[in-house]
Amino acid sequence: MGLIVCQHCGRWIDEVETEKVTVLYGCCQEESCRNGIRQGDADDE
Ligand SMILES: [Zn+2]
Repeated sequence: MGLIVCQHCGRWIDEVETEKVTVLYGCCQEESCRNGIRQGDADDE
């Protein structure tokens, strides 16, 4: 199975059925996350 976690805050969001145990990244319901505010991730300057 696969776990879906928030790419912004790391919160567990959901799980999906997959053959392998894997972690997918999505976005949780937090307002700051939904607005796309990144926490210290400045990869595009
Ligand atoms: Zn989040």
